[in-house]
Amino acid sequence: MIDTHSHIYLEQFDEDRQEVFNRAVEAGVSDIFMPAIDMGSIEQMEKLSHPEIKFYKMAGLHPCDVEEVLPSDLEKSLSEFCSRDDFFGIGETGLDYYWSTDHLANQKESLRIHCKVAKLLAKPIILHNRESTSDLLELIRKEQDGSLTGIWHCFNGTVDEGKKAIDMGLHLGIGGVVTFKNGGVDKTVAQLPLDKMVLETDAPYLSPTPMRGKRNEPAFMKYTAQKLAEIFEMDLSELISTTNRNSKTLFKIN
Ligand SMILES: [Zn+2]
Repeated sequence: MIDTHSHIYLEQFDEDRQEVFNRAVEAGVSDIFMPAIDMGSIEQMEKLSHPEIKFYKMAGLHPCDVEEVLPSDLEKSLSEFCSRDDFFGIGETGLDYYWSTDHLANQKESLRIHCKVAKLLAKPIILHNRESTSDLLELIRKEQDGSLTGIWHCFNGTVDEGKKAIDMGLHLGIGGVVTFKNGGVDKTVAQLPLDKMVLETDAPYLSPTPMRGKRNEPAFMKYTAQKLAEIFEMDLSELISTTNRNSKTLFKIN
């Protein structure tokens, strides 16, 4: 399995990171994509290794870390990191109106800068969205010139919003929330095309049922995969090979 979104480099894993990786391998995780929170994340990512897991770095500035002033070198540093062969995407970026709307204009400007770099380098963008769906989709629609690809990470929109995102060239990142009872995400996802979905954890956040409330880790992605296989009424192995293929195509890995 390919975990397309894991903050495995964060301090929440400092105590037992190798055990977390061992459990991931046992659960069938072979590849982990790491979206950044800020440029400091990259140094942490570079320390990681495990003989049976491939790690993929990304660079970006999380919308919750956008402050009063955007870093003046944001575009330059994003371009420098993401143009390297060992960087596979731009993010995470996006909009978050839940934590704060104080720096809304800067969140949007930061997102536009990420989009520009993603288009220039032809690498996917990773989009965070919280209580900001219509603004996010509107901004992406304006930025889309036919060359922008990416993931609406932790998808929790409506069927209509999911379709709009897919029409705009985005994939949907399916994480733990699809397993939540009463969340309704499972019923939404059932009406959207599986060939536009990728698996993710968002570790250490958003653990799937039955691990809900605990620190999330890549091994727990098996619960999300099982749920998705149930929704689409297919074998787990078929579900995994389909979502793996989607991820490989999107990130241009073999
Ligand atoms: Zn994230």
